[in-house]
Amino acid sequence: MRVGIFGGTFDPVHLGHMIIAEQVMVELRLDHVMFVPGGIPPHKEASSVRATAEDRYAMVEAAVMGNESFSADRVEVDAGRAMHSVETVGILKERAPEDEWFFVTGADEVSNLLSWKEPDRLLEEVVMVAATRPGYDLSKLDHLEAGLRNFDRIFPVECTRVDISATGIRRRMLQGKSIRYLVPEAVREIIIERRLYERDAKRAEGEQLREEIR
Ligand code: ATP
Repeated sequence: MRVGIFGGTFDPVHLGHMIIAEQVMVELRLDHVMFVPGGIPPHKEASSVRATAEDRYAMVEAAVMGNESFSADRVEVDAGRAMHSVETVGILKERAPEDEWFFVTGADEVSNLLSWKEPDRLLEEVVMVAATRPGYDLSKLDHLEAGLRNFDRIFPVECTRVDISATGIRRRMLQGKSIRYLVPEAVREIIIERRLYERDAKRAEGEQLREEIR
């Protein structure tokens, strides 16, 4: 089996994520892509993550539902702490060491690879897939070559560029704007049901904002 690990904060998971998972899977003939929502990621400010790990996991679970090639994995959520990718990959690979493992990431994240924990060891364990993202030219990966022994284990994949970010979705929510068609519908329902990403003051206003968004 060829398995992709797609790690992220997924705060929330959105169609940009779904599109790269699908296109990388097809391009690299992966059998399966595992979405792995993180605890608080080591490189992000804890305060910038808005939804709880359980809410982010629930959204990912809803997003992958109905696609047998995708799954959601709890390894980082259950750890309840920040985990470096090299650690996560080690745990997941133990389940099926004979499989071929790929790590799916946006090219913007890959360009910071030198600041990740043990990037060369990570590249020994997995092929790193750098999916294109609007605003991130693949030439921005060139500087990595000098810093990594295993640079040739980074594999760029040209994906349809979709300018959707979790930050943008959270901002739209705060502004009371629609996020329909930016996230899978089942994810939008969770966001509204659980009142994720609403401004505290707005929450106090009760149903009004929810009605506007619906
Ligand atoms: P935030 O805006 O909060 O930083 P995000 O939209 O980048 O979040 P993450 O959960 O941090 O979402 O992303 C997980 C992975 O998906 C990262 O490797 C990121 O580069 C990639 N990614 C996210 N959105 C896109 C997109 N629109 N196109 C390509 N890659 C993306």
